[in-house]
Amino acid sequence: MARIFLSPPDVGPLEREYLLRAFDEGWIAPVGPDLDAFEAEISALTGWPGAVALASGTAALHLALLEVGVQPGDDVFVSTFTFAATANAVAYCGANPVFIDSDDATWNMSPELLEQALTDAAAAGRLPAAVVVVDLYGQCADYDRIVPLCQRFGVPLVEDAAEALGATYRGRPAGTFGDVGLFSFNGNKIMTTSGGGMFVSPTTETADRVRYLATQARQPAVHYEHTEIGWNYRLSNLLAAIGRAQLERLPAMSARRVEINARYRDAFAGLEGVSFMPIADPGWNGWLTCVVFDDPAVRDHVQKTLETADIESRPLWKPMHLQPVFADSACVVDGTSQRLFDHGLCLPSGSVLTDADVDRVAGLAIEAIRSRP
Ligand SMILES: *Cc1c(COP(=O)(O)O)cnc(C)c1O
Repeated sequence: MARIFLSPPDVGPLEREYLLRAFDEGWIAPVGPDLDAFEAEISALTGWPGAVALASGTAALHLALLEVGVQPGDDVFVSTFTFAATANAVAYCGANPVFIDSDDATWNMSPELLEQALTDAAAAGRLPAAVVVVDLYGQCADYDRIVPLCQRFGVPLVEDAAEALGATYRGRPAGTFGDVGLFSFNGNKIMTTSGGGMFVSPTTETADRVRYLATQARQPAVHYEHTEIGWNYRLSNLLAAIGRAQLERLPAMSARRVEINARYRDAFAGLEGVSFMPIADPGWNGWLTCVVFDDPAVRDHVQKTLETADIESRPLWKPMHLQPVFADSACVVDGTSQRLFDHGLCLPSGSVLTDADVDRVAGLAIEAIRSRP
């Protein structure tokens, strides 16, 4: 039986058709009609005119931070419960990440801890240059409270919606709650270009500036003229073609992931000592199904049992303030993300999974829970 992965790419005839069309029409060189159309389609999804297709979500984060004015030596407040890319981008700018813990309701940045951190920073005369809020596992943070806080302190907000494409919060698209936002199309995300990302902004001026920085900061001249340092961060037209096919299928792929989550919930109903990630807003995109075990030993037993059956599952993100590489960084934490890391597990959630796959994973997990060590 083939290995069951956590979140494998879901691609087929449509992606192949779009990719080969771009190839056959000769759009191999970096820019082309699929790149422009992919950006326009993301704009249509977010309702924000600015969209720039980039080589990765990490590249989009880096340029987002530069664009809101992060400078070497600045502090940047960052969700601690995230993938390393979020914090790495802060380091690329020569800035210092300050890690903020999660709340229980969304698992994203706690508005209480953010308010405390901003209040303390203001009192010390050292406000951060930006706040980077992550929408984890396809679920938006508590923006009803976070956006007014950032406005009150006059600090720009960057929304890392790498995992939340297609999600909504109070009916509004993920990616559009901050001053700028970004998505990832890495191979394990809800849709993929094999690798890629998108920067989004409410104005085309900001997007044009990011597009310029992402293209080696080339001035409009016949010869190559440069007045600033730039980056080589653009997505290729071929990969944008794959992205356009994926974007057409995104609603169906997202619905399938939500369905898989419901199937796990049904299978686990009545089991003691296991609970699911709370869904604070029905606009969740279903990216990964995450469960939390009362007993970490049971979590480990389930993970090992699944691995023995060639099924991939993983603990939740290890918080950045616990990562050796960020051991010297400041943090404002209350134990929430550490508890989630110690107790939580992501289950296979890809939209390619069949009902039989999900039932097999759930069956093995339940058996492991019942035969707890
Ligand atoms: C995947 C991810 C990124 C980075 O995106 P890449 O496209 O892999 O560079 C950033 N932030 C979060 C929260 C992610 O999950």
